[in-house]
Amino acid sequence: VDDLIRKSDKLSVVAQLAAGVAHEIRNPLTTVKGFLQLFQNEESYNGYYLKLMMEELERVESIIYEYLTLAKPNYEQDFQNIRIDTLLKQLLTLTETHSNMINIKLEFNAEEVPIILGLEKELKQVFINIIRNAMEAVEENGIISVRVRNHPDDFVCIQVEDNGCGMPRERIERLGEPFYSTKERGTGLGLMVCYKIIEHHGGILNVYSEVNRGTKVEIILPTLKKRKKEMLMI
Ligand code: ADP
Ligand code: MG
Repeated sequence: VDDLIRKSDKLSVVAQLAAGVAHEIRNPLTTVKGFLQLFQNEESYNGYYLKLMMEELERVESIIYEYLTLAKPNYEQDFQNIRIDTLLKQLLTLTETHSNMINIKLEFNAEEVPIILGLEKELKQVFINIIRNAMEAVEENGIISVRVRNHPDDFVCIQVEDNGCGMPRERIERLGEPFYSTKERGTGLGLMVCYKIIEHHGGILNVYSEVNRGTKVEIILPTLKKRKKEMLMI
């Protein structure tokens, strides 16, 4: 019965989200359509509107992208052995060019840590979302520091720290709420997806932040050994 309730809970959450996503997507599409109608009459063609249309379409793209990861069913049997330090290293190498361009210093520091069990695509998505938030939070002299550490009792700890704008307590409490965003072009789906994925991996996500000082997002994941132990107990 427990399982049944949980399943129906999940369904209504997904349905609610779908309604929200549809709504969020309709607004930018209406804007784009409006401008296109305007452009049919050639004199009203305007480069500024074109830029706006592009931005709105990009917004639609990120909403769909972020939502799809969540709506897709995932199966425990697809979990693979993952070296989280290697995964992060690869991801940061990809980010480096962009962060150099916008003058952000990216630091990476990893201890040798045990293998974990997970879905590579999902975990990548988590760190992309978190690093993107950090990039959006810092201004001049921005520093983003990524650390991988051993955590007691067969856990691995990953921290992403920035020296950006930080956030007040009320905001921290609302993180993970769908569509909660303080950005003009935010989707407010990024952290919700992170929470879901980390939960799905048997881990936890903590956020520590201080206004004008910066933010630290910490993810604690069980190692492969820990997960095997748990499975034996069941
Ligand atoms: P989005 O980035 O689209 O706004 P998210 O779910 O990724 O949505 O983040 C929700 C909100 O949390 C952001 O709008 C921002 O206010 C806050 N936030 C997230 N990460 C940080 C950070 N590193 N520093 C400051 N604020 C943050
Ligand atoms: Mg975000």
